[in-house]
Amino acid sequence: MNHEEAFVSIRNIQSSCKSRIQLVRIPLAKVFPANPEILEGAADLVQLSYLNEPAVLHNLACRYGKEEIYTKAGSVLIAVNPFKRVSLYTHDFVETYSKPTNEDLAPHVYSTMAYAYKAMMQDGVNQSIIISGESGAGKTETAKIAMQYLAAVGGGGGIEKEILETNPILEAFGNAKTLRNDNSSRFGKLIDIYFDGSGKICGAKIETYLLEKSRVVQQVKGERSYHIFYQLCAGASDNLREQIHLLPAKDYLYLNQSSCLFIDNVDDSFDFVAVQRAMKAVQISEEYQNKVFAMLAAILWLGNVTFSVIDDENHVEVDDNEALSCTADLLKCSKTRLMEALTTRKIRAGHEDIVQKLNYSQAVDSRDALAKAIYAGLFDWLVEWINKSFESARNFTDRFITILDIYGFESFVKNGFEQLCINYANERLQQYSNLHLFKLEQEEYTSEGIDWTRVEFKDNQDCLELFEKKPLGLISLLDEECTFPKGTDYTFAEKIKKHLDGTSCFQAERGASFRVKHYAGEVTYETMGFLEKNKDTLNFDFLRLLASCESPLPQIFATKLEEDLQQRTDPSRKNSSESNKLSISTKFKGQLCRLMQRLGDTEPHFVRCIKPNTLQRPDLFEEDLVLQQLRSCGVLEIVRISRAGYPTRLSHKNFANRYGFLLPTTSLLQNDSLNKCVAILHQFNIPPEMYQMGFTKIFLRAGQIGSLEDSRLRTL
Ligand code: ADP
Ligand code: MG
Repeated sequence: MNHEEAFVSIRNIQSSCKSRIQLVRIPLAKVFPANPEILEGAADLVQLSYLNEPAVLHNLACRYGKEEIYTKAGSVLIAVNPFKRVSLYTHDFVETYSKPTNEDLAPHVYSTMAYAYKAMMQDGVNQSIIISGESGAGKTETAKIAMQYLAAVGGGGGIEKEILETNPILEAFGNAKTLRNDNSSRFGKLIDIYFDGSGKICGAKIETYLLEKSRVVQQVKGERSYHIFYQLCAGASDNLREQIHLLPAKDYLYLNQSSCLFIDNVDDSFDFVAVQRAMKAVQISEEYQNKVFAMLAAILWLGNVTFSVIDDENHVEVDDNEALSCTADLLKCSKTRLMEALTTRKIRAGHEDIVQKLNYSQAVDSRDALAKAIYAGLFDWLVEWINKSFESARNFTDRFITILDIYGFESFVKNGFEQLCINYANERLQQYSNLHLFKLEQEEYTSEGIDWTRVEFKDNQDCLELFEKKPLGLISLLDEECTFPKGTDYTFAEKIKKHLDGTSCFQAERGASFRVKHYAGEVTYETMGFLEKNKDTLNFDFLRLLASCESPLPQIFATKLEEDLQQRTDPSRKNSSESNKLSISTKFKGQLCRLMQRLGDTEPHFVRCIKPNTLQRPDLFEEDLVLQQLRSCGVLEIVRISRAGYPTRLSHKNFANRYGFLLPTTSLLQNDSLNKCVAILHQFNIPPEMYQMGFTKIFLRAGQIGSLEDSRLRTL
């Protein structure tokens, strides 16, 4: 046979392991060793003898074909989205995973949760489940499956039902159909679930991150706004419909402009009933529900408000039509005030207010800004309400499991401010998991003097610095530009190009664009809209308008926004670092920082969701797509590190105390922990390649602790 070439039979791994043999000629360098058949579809990638990318892919594909969607990669759980109902979540499964057993159970979210629950209850260490993956990979479903498990094992008090009911509410108000996922979460979510001393759920707290507000007023073709709008239009009773002057979805500009009103296999009116039921479960009375729906209708009507140009300078007045009357009626505000607020802006000059007339595009922008502000206010209000409803029932404990479902890395044809924030969050999380999985591991080996082959991993510190560095980082420069009266998206682009070009993760692009090298790939951002979105101010006229409404909800939003705005425009704080603190990006940075601290106090568990195809279709495993995701989240490094390492580690003292009593009495004369450890290892014939002795700890290979534990339990 030719040395440079090899004939290889290629297995066609589409949806199952059934092989179709094909003969092809390829260079030898491109041939990787395959794993023996006995390892086909191994439950833990760490078990594979050969760890090349094709082997890992083949393994996942094999399992996927058998509906084994979960696979371990060392301590990380990989979940490949089945895009169909799989029978893995029945009560029997909960039972199996929640019972103590010596058997090796198949990888599952349930086994991760069972471990976390046990560690929290027995060792008193709070736990976190960090779910990551691209949009549509299955993060939100995984988070729900995790919550359902906890509700099943820690339920009984009743509050678990309320906690589960928050899902349909938050999904209705915070999820939308996008081109990638029919039910895409447009916000990040952290939920803490609290447990009492007996392991029963006794409370919860939800924190949300960065809702995508722009979707309320605009969507790209084929995407939708938030589900709740369509649900309301489809499912409202005749009575409600009349009360809030509701039209079908197709008649509202905010809903019809993207030519997408329906989702396959989704019945919006059916879902509306579920949302109402869920709102009731978190104690939102029917009366208040209707107030919420009235706000939604007000937003929709506001979108239909139109303007007419009245002079050569393009100034406008509001067309006095049904849209305007309905909006005013629903907000319970005066029509004249609403018209005024939509077409003029008061600017303070010295001690006087000057009234400036808005031109057409300014008026449209101000209309949209009001709609977004009301929606964001409504969303925050809902989350706060839900948290309050738990508070009344909650006995605060210091025992919790927290589940993080945050938007995955995004890279579209056009990327804006939202993508920048989302990808920044992903960089932070990536660093956290790097830190946990690799760095801590390596550092511990090094500090313990353990001989071990270093596993290289991608550090993303440079990229984080690009965002966070002061004063010359993306966030600082953006905030600075926002405080300049003459700052525009364009001047911002110029500025970052001047200061950041040449740094390792940044590249200037043509026009007002720039490129960032993220750990998961390169993304080009267009700076259009950056300043407005980062400032996120609602002018005072709107605040006054909302505050003057007779309906309580707008008043609540107004009070909130006012506090915010006051801090920002307080002259005593102007230009101090304080005044910048509240820009969206800086607020988000702070939120992420607190998130990292919070996670830092817990024992983390990582779940990496993988999207097997972009069509959201079952039984289709696109290798390139999967490989790219495996690479970007470092699964291969994780496997290498786990295999190369010694996952079990105990201090000499703990090890000696735990197993010392198994020694014959003569050896007990050793009172030095280290000597005792050595004696135990001898006694149990643990071969030298299976352990290493560190300065303060003993390190054991996977599986070694098992037989020792068996003997210990037998003797106890
Ligand atoms: P993400 O939150 O990562 O964007 P989702 O959790 O919304 O993705 O999942 C997208 C879709 O994939 C879901 O709407 C569901 O149809 C399907 N899906 C995800 N995980 C599962 C699962 N474990 N079983 C069945 N379908 C799933
Ligand atoms: Mg989601």
